[in-house]
Amino acid sequence: MSFDASKATSYLKDYSKKDGLSVKDLVDSTNFGGLTYNDILILPGLISFPSSDVKLESKLTKKITLNAPFVSSPMDTVTEEVMAIHMALLGGIGIIHHNCTAEEQAEMVKKVKKYENGFINDPVVITEDITVGEVKKMKKQLGFTTFPVTDNGKVGGKLLGIITSRDVQFHEHDNDTVGKVMTKELITGKKGITLTEGNEILRKSKKGKLPIVDSEGNLVSLISLTDLQKNQDYPIASKSFDSKQLLCGAAIGTMEADKQRLEKLVEAGLDVVVIDSSNGSSVFQINMLKWIKETYPELQVIAGNVVTREQAAILIEAGADGLRIGMGSGSICTTQEVMACGRPQGTAVYGVTEFANKFGVPCIADGGIGNIGHISKALALGASTVMMGGLLAGTAETPGDYFYRDGKRLKSYRGMGSVAAMKQTSINANASTSRYFSESDKVFVAQGVSGSVVDKGSITKFVPYLYNGLQHSLQDIGIKSVKELREKVDNGEVRFEFRTASAQLEGGINGLYSYEKQLHN
Ligand code: IMP
Repeated sequence: MSFDASKATSYLKDYSKKDGLSVKDLVDSTNFGGLTYNDILILPGLISFPSSDVKLESKLTKKITLNAPFVSSPMDTVTEEVMAIHMALLGGIGIIHHNCTAEEQAEMVKKVKKYENGFINDPVVITEDITVGEVKKMKKQLGFTTFPVTDNGKVGGKLLGIITSRDVQFHEHDNDTVGKVMTKELITGKKGITLTEGNEILRKSKKGKLPIVDSEGNLVSLISLTDLQKNQDYPIASKSFDSKQLLCGAAIGTMEADKQRLEKLVEAGLDVVVIDSSNGSSVFQINMLKWIKETYPELQVIAGNVVTREQAAILIEAGADGLRIGMGSGSICTTQEVMACGRPQGTAVYGVTEFANKFGVPCIADGGIGNIGHISKALALGASTVMMGGLLAGTAETPGDYFYRDGKRLKSYRGMGSVAAMKQTSINANASTSRYFSESDKVFVAQGVSGSVVDKGSITKFVPYLYNGLQHSLQDIGIKSVKELREKVDNGEVRFEFRTASAQLEGGINGLYSYEKQLHN
């Protein structure tokens, strides 16, 4: 008997067996032990929409939703203000590390919160009594010659004039003061104007720089024509509803001194704090979490790290607004080897999120994200966002300078539990106690390594690559949003497959004499 081809899809309903496994069957009933992202695959679905229709909006915490599910890790070779600003501009969020003084960390948070695309909020400002010769020297050092002049040489001081290359270039008396040669008749913009309005003033006045002043004539910021030309539009930037400022996160430890640190961060405008412990289920973290929720009820708190439901339950009960999952999965991490503790990340993400999602507590899959596929798998297993260290390391927005070795352009990337990072913490008495050692430790027991990664260019290209790639991946699964992914994984419509060792070989590149792996154009 042959089957009626025109009814092929309806025959499927009578099949007792569906292709692949539900997520529960995949993780719970396999006897393979813990799963990593590479151990699993998601089966394809029906594509009935363009990939650009796929929505990547997802929750970071109970009260914060991001347009892109990307978080940069609080590591001192990954997230300072430049990374945090760009992560937020691109729809994600950066969590500023705490391997520095509280003042330095708060200053970084302030810079993110004060950032306005196209506005220079911390221009180099001078006083009127410095000399033309000094300005010429500054040009050599900094590469530009336009400086606003204020009464105290700082942003916030009364704007007295502006000095440009034209004022100093052919001025022969280097001992003359800036006050004598600067331009005093100024065209300024009022605080609160939009970038488009500022642009229009610059265009009409044919000036290169526009100082922005408040109602008392104090300098607030500067708009530069060259920057305007370079400026991109960031339509999915992560911003607070009320202030329209970029969202910013920062990490703290669980010591008494971290309470004063947090006070400074909150004053600087912090939106979300991450309590940074490698094992979050500790009385120190629970006490800190409860204290933060009592003291700053509006501040969102992400607790962790956790890898089991039991650990998660304790922190959910203590008031966590989000959880961070991962122990030993980081690319620079030796925790599983040294501490004999941890959990393969796929199983950890599924186990914790399956529990935490019931309480409406979103989870970050932290560590081990090495490519776009890993992001899709983390979200499919239940995470709401992913945290990346190594994948973002080596981009222009990370702290530190590039250096060359073996003809390659590199940047440092190190674990926060590496000896190098812990030494930095112990040298700087005011840095936050590392999550990887106690003050009483006489010998550091490293849980991470210190290394280097190849230059990845700017995240203004790399994060859009992750974003578009993730849209394509969800399109292949036949899914139009992170929300729909959650629903269809939970109801068993999205199916998974376990990958044997040979399946992993098959899925990788093989049989080539040589190749170049270029990730994007
Ligand atoms: P990656 O994205 O795979 O490079 O992992 C980054 C994550 O590793 C961070 O967000 C931390 O959770 C974790 N991590 C950072 N430093 C260390 C370390 O020294 N040892 C273990 N884990 C670390």
